[in-house]
Amino acid sequence: MIQALQADITTLNVDAIVNAANGTLLGGGGVDGAIHQAAGPGLLEECRTLGGCETGDARLTMGYDLPARYVIHAVGPVWEGGRSGEPGLLVSCYRKSMEIALGRHFMSIAFPAISTGVYGYPVEPAARIAVEVVRDTLKASGKPMDVTFCCHSEGDLSIYKAVLNS
Ligand code: ADP
Repeated sequence: MIQALQADITTLNVDAIVNAANGTLLGGGGVDGAIHQAAGPGLLEECRTLGGCETGDARLTMGYDLPARYVIHAVGPVWEGGRSGEPGLLVSCYRKSMEIALGRHFMSIAFPAISTGVYGYPVEPAARIAVEVVRDTLKASGKPMDVTFCCHSEGDLSIYKAVLNS
């Protein structure tokens, strides 16, 4: 099942929430800051051991004080106008995150709108990529998983709903 809802992703009780991380994996603003704040210092400690992550890739950690059992840290591209490989890198973020979740047999995962905050990726094309990659990887896997697109704003939610219905 795939759904979109408006929520603070740190409150969701799922197997894994995805973090829109930066390459250092050492925390930042936006959803990254909120996740580290809610998870507590154990998360940063584990992230320090990972040695960073390339753009378009993802890493798994425990969820610590979060209701979510795990965090998948995906590093999205910074939007530079769309001709610097941003779509392919965003596709890769969603694909790698889904591969980790499927490999661990997670039954539920929640994604924020990766790259669409400080990184400036326009929301609608980003939502199209998110929905398409999730649909394709779920179908190819043949496994059941509840996927939530967790929107921070009402405007983002209406864009995700429109994309899901198209
Ligand atoms: P990026 O650097 O990848 O753009 P941001 O954290 O700046 O990451 O923004 C990514 C998305 O996460 C934006 O849509 C932002 O509104 C949203 N966001 C920020 N805080 C939260 C939160 N607590 N829960 C869910 N989404 C959030």
